[in-house]
Order: sequence, then C-alpha cells, then structure tokens
Amino acid sequence: MTSLPANIGSFSKPVQQLWDCMNPCTLCPRRCEVYRGKGETGFCGIADMPIVSSVAPHFGEESVLVGFGGSGTIFFAGCNLGCVFCQNFDISHHRHGHQMTIEQLAQSMLELQNYGSSNINFVTPTHVIPAITAAIELARKKVLTLPIVYNTGGYDSLETLKLLEGFVDIYMPDMKYSDTKVAEELSAASDYPEVNREAVKEMHRQVGDLQVINGLATCGLLVRHLVLPDQLAGSFETIDFLAEQISDATTINVMDQYRPCYKAASHPKINRRPAPEEIESVRRYAIQKGLNVLAW
Ligand code: SF4
Repeated sequence: MTSLPANIGSFSKPVQQLWDCMNPCTLCPRRCEVYRGKGETGFCGIADMPIVSSVAPHFGEESVLVGFGGSGTIFFAGCNLGCVFCQNFDISHHRHGHQMTIEQLAQSMLELQNYGSSNINFVTPTHVIPAITAAIELARKKVLTLPIVYNTGGYDSLETLKLLEGFVDIYMPDMKYSDTKVAEELSAASDYPEVNREAVKEMHRQVGDLQVINGLATCGLLVRHLVLPDQLAGSFETIDFLAEQISDATTINVMDQYRPCYKAASHPKINRRPAPEEIESVRRYAIQKGLNVLAW
C-alpha cells in the first residue's frame, strides 16, 4: 500500500520530497519513523491524508490577517506538540474532523477565496504539509492568488521548512518557550527552544519582516508569543532572541489570552491566568527592544 496519490508525478519535486518524508516519517523533529502511507500514526496521530476540523473565514485572528472578509482558516486535527494547556484540545488531541483529499483541500481554498477571505490560513499544518503543498499547487493552477499563512506551533524541522520555500507567504510561528525543562513539562518537547529558534531563522530567511499593505499582511514573519504565568514562557529571552538574531523590525503578537485548559489544572504553576502587569511588562520590553508589537 502506498501513500502517494496516483498523480504524484504531476506535482513539483518539493511536494514529492515532502511526501517521501512520511515513509518513514521524519517530517517534524519527533522523527517517529512510522509509515504513514500504510496507515501507521506517530505522535501527531494522523496518517498521510489530513483530517480537517473546519474551513471558515475567521474574524478573531490578528487584524492584519482579517480585513473585510476574514482570515480563511483551515483547521487540521492532530498536532506534533503535547501542550497540557492546549486551548484547541478537541481538535488537536481528540482529532475531531473529517478526512479530505488533496482535491477537496484545494477546492476549500478556492471557496474561501471566492467568499472574499483575505488569505488562506493553515492552522496546525506541520504534520500534514505534504497534502497541503500538493493542494496549494492544484489551487494555484486554478487561480488561487491569496497569500498562504503557515500558522504553526513552531516545532518545525529545518529540512521540511526548506522545502516550503515558495509555498508560504506569511509564516506565523508560536515561540512558546525559552527553557528546555519547561518545554518538556508543558509540551513534551525538551528540544523545543533550540528547534523553534532555528525554524524561525529559516522562516525569516525565506520571507523577511512582515509586510503590510492597506492594513493587510501580504508576506513575512509574524511571531506569536503567549505569555504564561510566572514568566514560564521565557518571554524576555524570546524577545532578546528576536531583536538580536532575527530583526529588530520583527512583528510580534504578545498574546494575553492564556487561561487554564485541558490538563492545566494538574500543573499548579499554570493553573491561573497571568496578571495584567505580567503581560504589560512583556509588551513594554518588546517595544523597548524596538520590535513591532501588534495591537489587536
Ligand atoms: S509528523 Fe507526526 S508522525 Fe511524523 S515525525 Fe512528526 S509527530 Fe511523528
């Protein structure tokens, strides 16, 4: 049994290489080495074809992604991170949704464009990127022109990202942690800080700083950073990294919406919302470092 679509030869070399990376799967830093084309699943819990939980214009994203028609979100079930406080756990961990073919995924993108969405926003795409890139190619042949947003938890391997050059216009990675112990305890990924920083460097190399025209993002890097209680997210270190090693013109969304969800109650340190002054101190520091801090 093969995972390759029958017409895989009609797709570009990067799409074919991405497909190969699933058998055995080394698509993300977990490197589970399962054969997803045979229906096997690794940490992310998904075989080779994506499970989509929703396709809809979203008006709750950053204003530079929303515009008049909303951000055209496509939410994927499964995730390569194991965040104990996941706010989308029904999608990410319980994997609610229905399987889509590449053709259906491409059609969904075109429908979002016809509706008037400002972009196509793939939410949690890392583990299903082979099918996504194939669908982007199909949709672009049928006049998809919207910017593509790669909206990721930020646990992405360098090798895979390099194959995405030209597919993605706006990289929107989380930068969740600066400390390996915290990353292990809260997301089961002790190497997250190192992997995440290398990934952000590659994303910035491909698309540069965020470009906004008439209030809408057209390309570039937009970092999301969720402030956790007691500075567990390592916010100041992340800001230093961005200002010193990426660009002091980096656009960052300092997010204040953390609330205890999913299994957070069993982790006393994160079983509360951050205080307003904890969030404000991070915002002030980012501004002081010269970053472009988004206002909602
Ligand atoms: S994409 Fe999924 S199966 Fe593949 S290495 Fe990552 S977590 Fe494992």
